[in-house]
Amino acid sequence: AKQSGRGNVREYDRSFDSSIQNRIRLEREIQLGLERNEFFLEYQPIMSTLDRRLVGYEALLRWQHPERGRVPPDQFIGIAEDCGLIAQLGAWVVRKACRDAAGWENGLNVSVNVSPIQFTTSDLPNVIKAALDDAGLEAKRLSIEITENTFLQGKQNIEVLKALRTLGVGIVMDDFGTGYSSLSYLRDFQFDKVKIDRSFIWDMLNQPHSAAIVDAILSLGHGLGVDIVAEGIETAEQLAYLEERSCSLVQGYFIGRPSQTIAERPRTEVLESS
Ligand code: C2E
Ligand code: CA
Ligand code: CA
Ligand code: CA
Repeated sequence: AKQSGRGNVREYDRSFDSSIQNRIRLEREIQLGLERNEFFLEYQPIMSTLDRRLVGYEALLRWQHPERGRVPPDQFIGIAEDCGLIAQLGAWVVRKACRDAAGWENGLNVSVNVSPIQFTTSDLPNVIKAALDDAGLEAKRLSIEITENTFLQGKQNIEVLKALRTLGVGIVMDDFGTGYSSLSYLRDFQFDKVKIDRSFIWDMLNQPHSAAIVDAILSLGHGLGVDIVAEGIETAEQLAYLEERSCSLVQGYFIGRPSQTIAERPRTEVLESS
């Protein structure tokens, strides 16, 4: 017991140390990464369940670090938010996604994740307007995905949302069900889409509580006249469950993985399953 206790302390010290150092180093490396073009986007398809056709793609940020290799977004977005680099990084994502989408022959839509910090520290409507103009992309082909926690930053964010709405871009509430008091936001602002977080989709077929929450979000969406997107679909059974309950839009590895080149159609397994 003594030995394992000491082991734990040493382990803790080491990870604490390296996480502080790591953070400071990562801050500098994010800045460098922007200068050296180490960031890129992957696109994950979003499918309509009505006709099983793709309607658009979610842009997901990737970082190919020269020594660390692929760094997942969960490991650097929080740091970029804390040190103020998220405004620059986020503006790059919007510009790049708009330019890419403008070149897609299929004319499908693109959606981009926006950090709550971008709402307060950057002039988001102007950043987005400039990106649309620069790319020559119609505003209706762009959506932004925001989490419920965006509203913790203050009520003036509703004003930013209204300015974005005026531009004509779609507004999606992301990770629905995982944040705080989201129902009042649904009352105060007309979202175009609401995305059910994948943590509910994962276990809905084994966990009655998750299924009940998915069912409730779907009937809420139908009642409000808001399209519901389910993310994280990995199996034909999950897709069938959602289709039976008229979930209009779906996304997940079963439909298509994020990739640098856009998929033209869902995976053949999807088209064969029913
Ligand atoms: P998110 O917005 O909830 O994005 C969905 C995440 O689920 C992505 O992880 C995607 O690769 C993953 N995913 C999609 N389908 C499946 C599936 O069937 N199974 C499983 N297990 N996972 C699936 P990723 O790319 O690692 O991104 C993680 C988070 O990082 C995103 O969560 C988003 O919050 C954030 N993020 C990504 N790109 C950006 C960005 O450009 N800006 C900002 N602010 N955040 C971003
Ligand atoms: Ca998202
Ligand atoms: Ca999510
Ligand atoms: Ca998210």
